[in-house]
Amino acid sequence: MLNIVLFGPPGAGKGTQSAILIEKFGLIHLSTGDMLRAEMASGSELGERVKNIMAEGKLVSDEIVIELIRKRLDTHKDANGFIFDGFPRTIAQAEALDRLLAEKGTAISVMISLVVPTQELVKRLIKRGQESGRADDNEETILRRIGEYNEKTLPVATYYQQQGKLKEIEGVGSIEEIAARIQTALQSVAGNA
Ligand code: ADP
Repeated sequence: MLNIVLFGPPGAGKGTQSAILIEKFGLIHLSTGDMLRAEMASGSELGERVKNIMAEGKLVSDEIVIELIRKRLDTHKDANGFIFDGFPRTIAQAEALDRLLAEKGTAISVMISLVVPTQELVKRLIKRGQESGRADDNEETILRRIGEYNEKTLPVATYYQQQGKLKEIEGVGSIEEIAARIQTALQSVAGNA
């Protein structure tokens, strides 16, 4: 299996690059942000519980997102592999993911980390907020999300680096240029035949 963690701050371009990778390798895309937004849109009890936390730009609890991921891994038993987008976002999530994959006899192959300067992130997210109307794409919430990322999520890169799995990719340039950099990085990854 090819199991990729696509990592980076809010606005780094994870969703865009995920779409390209899914197409190329036939992977299942697991985005916890998308799952949580779907819960909100459906008006489920879980959606109601996470709504305010997301609107404030804070992280929802590890238990909730780990459970969402666990269910999806069970649903897609015959997948070629998975692309994890926006997950894991804390060390506890990373440890849980390792355990869940080990139970399936597999593991994370690589973490692709998109590196983008903060100034550029804020610019992209404000623009996305104007175009899509996503409730958390306003300046105050954007800065809170970047703060949460620096404090709680960045250590996750070190976690994978210690396993020899971290590949850092410059995330500024055209979509095609960045996709090509990711392809090059993946060529050296085991499990990518
Ligand atoms: P972005 O990466 O642009 O911030 P996402 O769509 O990945 O956007 O996430 C939006 C929000 O959903 C986050 O700010 C957070 O509140 C919540 N969220 C998504 N994934 C996780 C996760 N793995 N752990 C905790 N909260 C999460």
